[in-house]
Amino acid sequence: MKKIVNNVTIECVSGDIAAQKDIAAVVNAANAQLRIGGGVAGALHRAAGPGLEEECRPLAPIKPGEAVITGAHNLPNDYVIHCLGPVYGADRPEDKLLADCYRNALQLAEDSKVDSVAFPSISTGAFGYPMEDAAEVAFQTVKEITADLKQVRLIRFVLFGEDALEVHRRKMEEVLG
Ligand code: ADP
Repeated sequence: MKKIVNNVTIECVSGDIAAQKDIAAVVNAANAQLRIGGGVAGALHRAAGPGLEEECRPLAPIKPGEAVITGAHNLPNDYVIHCLGPVYGADRPEDKLLADCYRNALQLAEDSKVDSVAFPSISTGAFGYPMEDAAEVAFQTVKEITADLKQVRLIRFVLFGEDALEVHRRKMEEVLG
């Protein structure tokens, strides 16, 4: 499913964030220490190889809502943008902190002249953010930012499984029309 807003294509697919061959920058749902961990961070670090953790070490720790950019090592991309999402019920206000992740990630992509970015559903795994609410924040934030983007022309949401894809499809229709 695809929408075009201010000349930026926004799409949802189901798949693995570590296997997005046609995308310049993939976003990591990172932990504060930028270590391998589980979920998205596990998948990306395993595919990238140990060089990614090494490059991340001097950049850590990061705070909720922050983003940092590194090379992609053995991943089929140019960059990894690491975002620390809010832990639901602990880092507040969670909607603002989650919006900051999307905003800061896209700003780093712009600064590095990246034309395509793939996001996972940040904070909806180990960090417990209800997916429907997180999807609303994600699409609203992306929608607001599209007008300011000069480099990024494709934003892909890579969802883990058909249920996650369905939630995002519905929310995307609601928010982007
Ligand atoms: P967080 O700690 O920010 O909650 P997680 O990595 O635990 O991050 O999960 C974020 C979301 O990404 C969850 O919805 C999870 O199901 C999904 N996910 C897990 N592995 C992958 C993957 N390889 N590709 C895309 N999405 C994934």
